[in-house]
Amino acid sequence: MSNAHPKKHIGHNHLAERLRAMSRNLWWTWNPEAQRTFFRLAPQLWRESNHNAVAVMREISQQELTARLHDPEFARKVRSVLSDFDAYMGATDTWASQHAAHLKHPVAYFSAEFGIHESLPIYSGGLGILSGDHIKSASDLAIPFIGLSLFYREGYFQQRVGADGWQQEVYLPNHLENLPLELVMTAQGGRLLNSVQIGHSTVFFQTWKVQVGRATLYLLDTNLPENDFHFQGLTSHVYGGNIDTRIGQEIVLGIGGVRLLDSLGVQPSVYHMNEGHSAFLAVELLQRAMKDGLDRAAAEEHVRKRCLFTTHTPVPAGHDRFSRELMEHTFGAAWSSTGSSIDDLLSYGRVHPDNPDEPFTMTVLALRMSRHANGVSELHGRVSREMWKELYPSLSADRVPIGHVTNGIHTPGWASVHAHDFWNTRLGSDWTAKLMDRRFWKKMQDQDLATDEELWALRYTLRRDLVEYARRRLREQHQRIGGDGAAAFAKALSPDALTIGFARRFATYKRAPLIFRDFDRLLPLLTDPERPVQLIFAGKAHPRDNEGKRFIQRIIEYGRHPQLFGKVIFLENYDIGVARHLISGCDVWLNNPRRPLEASGTSGQKVGIHGGLNVSILDGWWREGYDGKNGWAIGEDANDPDTERQDAIDAVNLLAVLRDQVIPEFYHRDEHGIPRGWIARIRNAMETLIPGYSTDRMVAEYTEKFYLA
Ligand SMILES: *Cc1c(COP(=O)(O)O)cnc(C)c1O
Repeated sequence: MSNAHPKKHIGHNHLAERLRAMSRNLWWTWNPEAQRTFFRLAPQLWRESNHNAVAVMREISQQELTARLHDPEFARKVRSVLSDFDAYMGATDTWASQHAAHLKHPVAYFSAEFGIHESLPIYSGGLGILSGDHIKSASDLAIPFIGLSLFYREGYFQQRVGADGWQQEVYLPNHLENLPLELVMTAQGGRLLNSVQIGHSTVFFQTWKVQVGRATLYLLDTNLPENDFHFQGLTSHVYGGNIDTRIGQEIVLGIGGVRLLDSLGVQPSVYHMNEGHSAFLAVELLQRAMKDGLDRAAAEEHVRKRCLFTTHTPVPAGHDRFSRELMEHTFGAAWSSTGSSIDDLLSYGRVHPDNPDEPFTMTVLALRMSRHANGVSELHGRVSREMWKELYPSLSADRVPIGHVTNGIHTPGWASVHAHDFWNTRLGSDWTAKLMDRRFWKKMQDQDLATDEELWALRYTLRRDLVEYARRRLREQHQRIGGDGAAAFAKALSPDALTIGFARRFATYKRAPLIFRDFDRLLPLLTDPERPVQLIFAGKAHPRDNEGKRFIQRIIEYGRHPQLFGKVIFLENYDIGVARHLISGCDVWLNNPRRPLEASGTSGQKVGIHGGLNVSILDGWWREGYDGKNGWAIGEDANDPDTERQDAIDAVNLLAVLRDQVIPEFYHRDEHGIPRGWIARIRNAMETLIPGYSTDRMVAEYTEKFYLA
């Protein structure tokens, strides 16, 4: 990107101020040169603060900063990053200017979590990562876009695993001063306060603003002295607490979010609910429309025109449900002002509106109140139509109005700095603006672009970096639990061995230990001295999910098997930063969910730009992405309804594909030591998967199908 403005001389103080300002826009999280700048300023602090640019800029003294900027080479780099930033923020010729010029009012995108960067821990898993990647691509495409979520002061838990292999949860408060947040103020200069009603209480919230490139994210926060003590902690933890906390958080997000936008004078073009957590926003819009004089049917129509809904959950039990008592208790007072009965409200959240015994389901509310609804992969769309067909009694399941938009990832944000360097020199640094261009990615077949040898060298470097990172983390983990022998981890893993990664939430349907099911057959595969294989696991179990915690414990126990020490490892405290190392270093990304429960899955999409390959059940996105030559499938495009049998069959198929295809292809080297077949597969994967599974493609699809409709 070039600077459109004439070069002006920028003094050092001014440069320092501009750098500080830039550190407060999360744009830097997907610009490798910007990250490098902060790293160079304070390498140790950068690492200790979990790569936090705001912390680096706070800790470094003005004197040191000025001194560093006297280094002409460093100052030149800083200027170059700042000019890229200016060019990005000021660009007028954008995807939106060409394809969505009619979208004048912003999209308001509501999500209970946003995973933007490891230094802003307000997410727990894939849903948050998706929201974070969605907002980054909305910024890249220059769509007018506002994200809304909650400010979780203590975020999600930090995972520690004790000597017994059991997960412990530790909550650490976020240090406000180290986060890129601005408190939203009124025109008069006071803190902007809004409120919602929960039961008979008025609960106030303040709002933090986060700049994500050109997009804005608002985070609602009830931690205020104005609130009763127990409401002060309402927004402390991601999905924290009991059902009362849950409904309270969802009221703040949905109803509070609408009120916030109103108080800011923002009139969204659409309200996009990412999962049902925010669906109470429809209740607020409905009440407003009725207050404005519309009758109920007209008000419903009015709301429906403005709302979109993306569902993520393929099992009935995964959807938020609230009992009549809870709804009455929480909403009774607020709803009474409409003059209609609480049953009228409840009817919106019931499949059978008049069934007094049916709880209130957020997904049903969202489906009833949206003009478009979608699942997150083709298969998940189909599963969702089947699951909710009772809501549409006059339609057959295939006519149920739930479509699909398959999830993607924000590729520039997931590409490691090393991958950026590698591709910038070969594709030009504007490859990040061509993610949707299928023709462009055909270049991946081109030996002149990158030879097999160069691609193999890239793989080697990334794998070695991961091995070094993992050794350091293992040593730290081991020292913390007071074990001796931490030194042994200096030799854990091998930079030459086929490296298989499995990292995601340890929800039981994801079946982390599936590969160990037939341990006697697995052991010789892992320990073959000629063709070694190593497994790296990471992931958090939900605090109340003991079965998920047992999965972690079992994997750690396998890692202590005398023949598997240093070959099967578990890395603690999975987050975006850990993910970034794993997805770049692993040769194979393993995903073996119990189909069709994955909905989409996105972590496998992150390996593509690094030359990683997927080995996965044909569920979610992989069922669409897999073409026979760009990775491997475990089993068939089908699933056995008997889960015990399905687990057994999938485990057999997994070992078979590893033994018969993956391991032989990785170790089949020519006289130069290059695995030609493997690299051909990498080229196919990059060509076919990068353009199909980016959030640029996904956000463009949402825009053209829904935001502009
Ligand atoms: C990508 C990612 C996820 C989602 O992974 P899935 O494979 O879709 O479950 C969850 N957590 C983190 C930290 C991620 O980076």
